Amino acid sequence: MSESQRIAVIGAGIVGASCALYLQQSGFQVTLFDRDEPGSGATYGNACTFATYGSIPVNRPDLIWRFPRLMFGDDRPLSISWPYMPRMLPWLWQFLRHCRRYQVDRTIDGLGALLRRAESASMKLFQASDVQDLLARDGTIYLYSSSTSFASDADNRRRRLAQGTRIQELSAEELHELEPSLAPNFPHAVLYPDGFTILEPKKLTGRMVEHLCQRGGIFIRGEVSSIDRTSAGGVGFKINGDPQGFTQAVLAGGAWSMKLAGPHCEPLPLETERGYHVLFSESGELLNRPVGFSEAGFYMTPMHHGLRAAGTVELGGLNAVPNPERLAYIKKYVQRALPDVGPVSDTWLGFRPTLPDALPVIGRSTINPALIFAFGHHHLGLTLGGITGQLVSEIASRTTPTIDLAPYRPERFG
Ligand SMILES: Cc1cc2nc3c(=O)[nH]c(=O)nc-3n(C[C@H](O)[C@H](O)[C@H](O)COP(=O)(O)OP(=O)(O)OC[C@H]3O[C@@H](n4cnc5c(N)ncnc54)[C@H](O)[C@@H]3O)c2cc1C
Repeated sequence: MSESQRIAVIGAGIVGASCALYLQQSGFQVTLFDRDEPGSGATYGNACTFATYGSIPVNRPDLIWRFPRLMFGDDRPLSISWPYMPRMLPWLWQFLRHCRRYQVDRTIDGLGALLRRAESASMKLFQASDVQDLLARDGTIYLYSSSTSFASDADNRRRRLAQGTRIQELSAEELHELEPSLAPNFPHAVLYPDGFTILEPKKLTGRMVEHLCQRGGIFIRGEVSSIDRTSAGGVGFKINGDPQGFTQAVLAGGAWSMKLAGPHCEPLPLETERGYHVLFSESGELLNRPVGFSEAGFYMTPMHHGLRAAGTVELGGLNAVPNPERLAYIKKYVQRALPDVGPVSDTWLGFRPTLPDALPVIGRSTINPALIFAFGHHHLGLTLGGITGQLVSEIASRTTPTIDLAPYRPERFG
């Protein structure tokens, strides 16, 4: 194995694990690093949906005028931590600028190009890693609690259709047939028949890393720091204080990627959208598939640990402690939708990595071209891990990428 074929992947979430496997398939000798067990970051606690229909970003034109109202009170899917607000202002400004219609349409096209290839790219890895028992194919439902909310989402449904998504409208009766435990509060719903569930995302990621190691890859557990350029033009960093050097490296550290990158990379406007889950371990039988309560901003997903209600957005950085109001909010709305839901058995706070235009960064650093960025997958990382891995392996191998990478390049933030 020549030195040039040695590559490091930093971060063993779904994105890093997918990059590692695709790089290995392309002939690289891969070493994967994480301070924790694979899949312990945002990948652990998400809503478990493989959401190929998810091309509508949080950035929306109506947010520009709704935003001030959303900033007050806890009874909303979006909340802001006031102490963190001053640090967030530059990111928020860019985020709101990307709520303009033409910017949102660009994001939808950028996400659509990835989402159309997401299932086939991930399935190659899932099949190789023998995780079929962790997948359930029953589609995903979105609920609407009024005709007004259904009508006001019509434009988004049209845009999803234009991106190639299949959508089936459900009457209240059809919804009841599919999900009899739901309260009769939803006059409209839609089924995304191609959505599917990953029943235990951490286990799935762990199996992918096991498969990597069975085929000669290496997983090293430790804290990565001080990423820099080596004198030979490669990437150097420390793992638990010990220096490492690689001809190329992939930075897939999720919401921590910019902290990890340090001062020797271009500063990208990466923030975190904090999201929560509330687990009802005795209530997994109440639903047959993930049900998105879109107005409340979360999914209720039957998965291996029970019924997991996961979502909402809190802008508050990586360090603040979990906000009990956010958990109470999720619990209250789950009880409204599922009157028979049992007691709460666990809660979790996770960190979505998000750039202000709601597109990931997939491309080489302009300051250290031996370093490839692969982060910023916000609400869609579980879905986009595989296609990101495929594109990263094409970048590392210097082969023609499957799709135009311009929308995802780091330089777009000037
Ligand atoms: C509530 C919620 C619901 C969601 N629902 C969905 C969904 O239904 N469908 C979907 O597609 N997406 C969903 N997402 C988004 C998805 O979970 C993320 O986009 C995805 O997990 C990001 O993966 P990642 O590999 O980039 O980051 P992570 O999974 O966070 O992995 C980053 C890794 O980097 C490691 N790391 C960080 N710093 C260091 C360091 N210094 N040294 C060593 N290692 C380090 C961490 O330990 C971690 O393992 C949801 C997210 C949340 C929070």
